[in-house]
Amino acid sequence: MGARWHQDGWQLTCLTDGQGSFAPEVFPELSEIECKARLAAAGEADIRTEFNAFLIEGDGVLTLVDAGYGALAGAKGGRVLGLLADMGVAPAQIGRLVFTHLHGDHCGGALGDGGLVFPNAEVVMHPAEVQHWQGSDTPGGRVLAALGARVRLLEDGQEVAPGLTFWHLPGHTPGHSGLRVGNGLVLVADILHSEALQLQDPHCCTKYDVDPALARETRRRAMDEVAHRGLVCAGGHLLGPDKFARLVAVGQGYAKVAP
Ligand SMILES: [Zn+2]
Repeated sequence: MGARWHQDGWQLTCLTDGQGSFAPEVFPELSEIECKARLAAAGEADIRTEFNAFLIEGDGVLTLVDAGYGALAGAKGGRVLGLLADMGVAPAQIGRLVFTHLHGDHCGGALGDGGLVFPNAEVVMHPAEVQHWQGSDTPGGRVLAALGARVRLLEDGQEVAPGLTFWHLPGHTPGHSGLRVGNGLVLVADILHSEALQLQDPHCCTKYDVDPALARETRRRAMDEVAHRGLVCAGGHLLGPDKFARLVAVGQGYAKVAP
């Protein structure tokens, strides 16, 4: 079973869809020397990442946050369904599917050979995400086409359910969003892709950040709030096994500490 956290009546379970490592070119602003130095300082050989989805329980509706890669990335991902099955959860029991954004590692698992994988889920996302991907030949475009009108659009600060609040974190993609769970926990989605490279330097963007300047500002603002309010956080690419952490300010950046 994945890492688990309880917050204000909610239970969150991290479902690690898979893992991999990024090529250095994914962080175009970093020189090869700086990249290697940061990895060495973190005791890492590669730019490791994990692909995380979350199951949230607490109001009688099973809420899945992101769906993993599905079949899009071969052995690198696609474990979400098996992890749900291990918990006794069938796809048809998922009542809500919240998309942080529509990159393949987050939405690929929502669409299978037989169509929508979570047929009974109300699907929730930010309107800017629909606008960005709709009609495109991408995993996100294909998921949106399959969903048709079955999407509930939420703006920043609106409730997914009482106690679960949508948190718009634009920049990585236009509609990229996290979730506030109760008063002390946040899911920060993809503001971070590599702990070793970006925690200490929130300025550092990936080539996947659609608007790097905005992604940078959002990353700084979100990490600052997590650190200063003492929130517990988890994200789409944080590493295990604990998955839930607090951030403390160190120098120009942050460090992850046990919650
Ligand atoms: Zn991602």
